[in-house]
Amino acid sequence: MGFLADSLSRIKPSATIAVTNKARELKAAGRDVIGLGAGEPDFDTPENIKEAGIRAIREGKTKYTAVDGIPELKAAIVAKFRRENHIDYAPAEVTVSAGGKQVLYNALMATLNVGDEVIIPAPYWVSYPEMVALGGGTPVIVQTTMESGFRLTPEALEAAITPRTKWIILCSPSNPTGAVYSAAQLRALTDVLLRHPHVWVMTDDMYEHLIYDGVRFATVVEVESRLKDRTLTVNGVSKAYAMTGWRIGYGAGPSMLIKAMATIQSQSTSNPTSISQYAAVEALTGTQDFIPKNAALFQQRRDLVVGMLNQANGLYCPMPEGAFYVYPSCAPAMGKTTKGGRKLATDEDFVTALLEEEGVAVVQGSAFGQGPAFRISYATATELLEEACIRIQRFCGNLT
Ligand code: PLP
Repeated sequence: MGFLADSLSRIKPSATIAVTNKARELKAAGRDVIGLGAGEPDFDTPENIKEAGIRAIREGKTKYTAVDGIPELKAAIVAKFRRENHIDYAPAEVTVSAGGKQVLYNALMATLNVGDEVIIPAPYWVSYPEMVALGGGTPVIVQTTMESGFRLTPEALEAAITPRTKWIILCSPSNPTGAVYSAAQLRALTDVLLRHPHVWVMTDDMYEHLIYDGVRFATVVEVESRLKDRTLTVNGVSKAYAMTGWRIGYGAGPSMLIKAMATIQSQSTSNPTSISQYAAVEALTGTQDFIPKNAALFQQRRDLVVGMLNQANGLYCPMPEGAFYVYPSCAPAMGKTTKGGRKLATDEDFVTALLEEEGVAVVQGSAFGQGPAFRISYATATELLEEACIRIQRFCGNLT
């Protein structure tokens, strides 16, 4: 028997964090590296939000709080769901954690038994299958296709459901593909779910506000209120308000689940940081002006990146409608050799060679459950994106 828990052998460290660390190391060693691996906005938290955090410190709001969120923040979240998603939640149906990640983690830990299945459409956010496995559950990966815009079809969902299915995890706009489900596309899925009352829905709406081309955001409970008593709606301030380091995420769902999640949190991390909670109140109740401004900037960057990648030899990059990621296929590059003499058998070879030879850090598609492809985060200064795309074009142009 080894010292470490058996459960650890079921999971692997985050590939996105690994790429970010590798790029950081190379940079520290003096290499010219452009990191397109990290999933966070490159701009600063807005001033009014920072000030609210500073005020909280000055006013001594620096003590333990209620485990799953201060009443002011729960009220702000209730108002947000009403205002933006037309869903009525009570404060007892709302939980606040250290990032959306902890909300998802608490929910899975609070509900999974060994052998429970969780349906996860691929490409998926790296943490979903790992968290499920850590909780003793079985991730059931359902592949989507580029042709379907990386969206789960109702047929594929129906086929994946078994008596052991506990959850389905949906993410729209998607990390890593940027795919967005319209209300009609969600309706097709909720129609299937209505026929399977034992299946719960975890909807990860973290990128709600990063949506382009006038596309309208939709979420499960808004589309089908009959699923409200078995849906956890997850959201947070990290991406929309450039608050990744503050660590505040939230979820809303049936009070029985919310209570169980608070029990897990009470015995692990207690409350999320008091200061960050006050800052999050300001984020949700203060001016929202910068959200469309940032979305417009992201849309320009998306257009630039997709345009330039599609001019690269051996890449095909679909145009996503949301988040700040693109997910080009590098299938035509497989089997080729780089200028530096590296043979490319997998997308991992592709991204390693790209980093070594051109100093561009991206994440291999296999980490997200579908390849050969890679993910680019375009939450980076426009000049750097342009330079990175020039390097990718050169890298691909030199393949033989
Ligand atoms: N869900 C998705 C799809 C994400 O991409 C992320 C962050 O990368 C999270 C959840 C977690 O966000 P947070 O930083 O609030 O924990």
